Amino acid sequence: MNGPKSESPLRPLWLLAELTYSCPLQCPYCSNPLLLGDRSRELATSDWLRVLDEARRLGAAQLGFSGGEPLLRKDLEVIVAEARRLGYYTNLLTSGVGMDEARIAALKEAGLDHIQVSFQADRADLNDRLAGSDSFAHKTEVAHLVKAYGYPMVLNVVMHRHNLDRMREILDMALALEADYIELANTQYYGWALVNRDYLLPTREQLARAEAVAHDYQARFGDRLKIYFVVPDYFEGRPKPCMNGWGRVFLSVAPDGTALPCHAAADLPGLELPNVRDHSIEWIWHQSPDFNAFRGESWMQEPCAGCDNRSDCFGGCRCQAYLLTGDARATDPACSKSPQHHVILDAVQQAAAQSCVPDPVLRNKRNARRLLNREIPFPFPAVRSRTRTADAVADRAGGAD
Ligand code: SF4
Ligand code: SF4
Repeated sequence: MNGPKSESPLRPLWLLAELTYSCPLQCPYCSNPLLLGDRSRELATSDWLRVLDEARRLGAAQLGFSGGEPLLRKDLEVIVAEARRLGYYTNLLTSGVGMDEARIAALKEAGLDHIQVSFQADRADLNDRLAGSDSFAHKTEVAHLVKAYGYPMVLNVVMHRHNLDRMREILDMALALEADYIELANTQYYGWALVNRDYLLPTREQLARAEAVAHDYQARFGDRLKIYFVVPDYFEGRPKPCMNGWGRVFLSVAPDGTALPCHAAADLPGLELPNVRDHSIEWIWHQSPDFNAFRGESWMQEPCAGCDNRSDCFGGCRCQAYLLTGDARATDPACSKSPQHHVILDAVQQAAAQSCVPDPVLRNKRNARRLLNREIPFPFPAVRSRTRTADAVADRAGGAD
């Protein structure tokens, strides 16, 4: 790995504040760590205000509040108000659970710019089954509130085997709710989603049908509804330009203050990820060995090192490379040039062939314990959260029961 650099012209333009990993929902596609996190170790309000100030001085302009469910933080309005004072453009990424009229009025008053509400599906039964919680009716109310308070209506639906065939109905729901944007994000296989890959991975035919419907609606309703259909890298033969390159524009801060070049990076071996309690954002961004570990191209091995595409895709995702090959410096196996591309092809082929889809492993405390105790099989390289003791998932940990 490269050593620390004394200076970098790069700026963390996009700051993701993961305020809590706690969430009332239990989505099997959740990309959060398997270890749910201890709420008593979350950063205090004053820590977050300092992080926002330091990152802004370094050039951060876009600020996302996510989790978990960020509405669980009672100090969200205080943090939003400070973000507004500092000049950020702010975006709340929420399941809607925890939002009501008083809360949205307070967030508006604090200066929140943008709200994105996630749905699991267009139908209450499917939505609530996937979320592990009766939340569809409330999400619908929240979507109306978002509109009523003058926000652009932005919906997000994570797509997979169990809702891709409902693309038409999902887009009809977006039109009925008078949404301005809908992001149809195909599942990325990290965290709980990787545990549930056999449950979630669609067939090529499902994807092709869903994409055709999305294009049809783009052509017919594109003036009313902006539709973003993000094609999954498992089916592309090319990896995504993950985070637009390691340590180039993106900085994530986990609930306990761990600073991450991407929100899944906690699973990578050999990194002693810095914490905002111990270091300034400036040191973390410019000097920390971990933010420099995969910056630029000098860490690349073949075939990436000699590939003409390397400045576009940055060798793909380091976390996916590690999780699927055991080597964080390997070419992302989503790339057809990777010597290990077969692990992706095999998974896609298996998804097409399976006649009996396994049950989902919902994201909750019980299943976190079962994963840590190896009662649930997880046939990928051990991740950090698997090597810690099951005791770490204490009763006060932040997931659903
Ligand atoms: S459980 Fe669902 S709603 Fe909660 S953080 Fe994960 S994906 Fe988001
Ligand atoms: S070989 Fe590496 S740099 Fe080239 S396209 Fe594949 S992942 Fe990107």
